Amino acid sequence: QAKRLGGATHQVLDLRASRVGLASDQLEADVRAALDTDQLAVAYQPIVRAADGQLKGVEALMRWTHPDRGPISPHAAIAAAERIGAIDSLGGWVLTRSCEDWLGWTTAHPDLALDLSVNVSGRQLMARDYPGTLERVLDSTGMDPQALVLEVTEGILLEESGRIVRTLAAIRDLGVRLALDDFGTGFCSLTYLRRFPIDIVKIDQSFVAEMGTDPASGAIVEAIARLAHVLNLSVTAEGVETEEQRAGVLDVGCDLAQGYLFARPMAAADLAARLERPDGVGAGAYRVASPPR
Ligand code: C2E
Ligand code: MG
Ligand code: MG
Ligand code: MG
Repeated sequence: QAKRLGGATHQVLDLRASRVGLASDQLEADVRAALDTDQLAVAYQPIVRAADGQLKGVEALMRWTHPDRGPISPHAAIAAAERIGAIDSLGGWVLTRSCEDWLGWTTAHPDLALDLSVNVSGRQLMARDYPGTLERVLDSTGMDPQALVLEVTEGILLEESGRIVRTLAAIRDLGVRLALDDFGTGFCSLTYLRRFPIDIVKIDQSFVAEMGTDPASGAIVEAIARLAHVLNLSVTAEGVETEEQRAGVLDVGCDLAQGYLFARPMAAADLAARLERPDGVGAGAYRVASPPR
């Protein structure tokens, strides 16, 4: 079923993936099997310029369709893989597959400047010589390091800060950028922006969702965007579902946006098909959504 992520199916999977849980002991036993069979897939969600919807990148999102249970949420899958020490395999698989897909799209469209964002769990990042592993994947796949963004969450920055800073610095030495994901949901977030070598801040979708109804959320998004810009960071708004939210995040200074308004996560083949029929105006304008009304 993972193979059938395309078309209308992926919308259903996307909704179910976030809701379906599973007894964790069972899940752990099944993670290894998933790695050995073809139960895993990667879905890609466009990241666009907030001002006009032009495609700037895609985020790789793991999809696991369990043979009996159907779609398993990525959070549950990652947690299970971490518990049994399979996160390196799982994370490595997602990274390698998405770099291969990226190479396919950009080879077919040489004028397409497309960033690839891949989520990395704390446990994965803290594995021995993660930067070395990353470098080998870059070499073996032909992925352009300058086009790769690794998304980490604030949680990891709470651990062993000296080691984390060295690891993040080594990743950036490869030319790969770092994004702080789900920003605003962790602890003392603002100080992290200075202490760690971060390039991009992704404002958590909970703030975006509340912007219209809660003035405080709007103020928080605006404050984060302002500070990020002062520190020379780029700002992405997550979970943009309505035109009002798009206008709102643009108004407070978010550079990029991601959400169901523009596109849902889709199979690699679906993204390839969309790139074949760009409906934007002018060369290289691969719009995935209509321009603002
Ligand atoms: P995330 O990195 O913050 O990814 C964004 C999540 O928001 C995705 O959920 C995406 O489908 C969902 N989303 C996107 N636009 C909208 C919208 O407009 N409205 C709403 N309500 N949701 C939207 P998904 O795919 O279920 O992934 C959940 C989380 O699982 C991710 O959050 C990420 O933290 C983690 N994850 C996914 N794939 C991987 C992976 O390969 N490795 C690791 N370590 N974590 C992963
Ligand atoms: Mg992410
Ligand atoms: Mg996020
Ligand atoms: Mg999230």
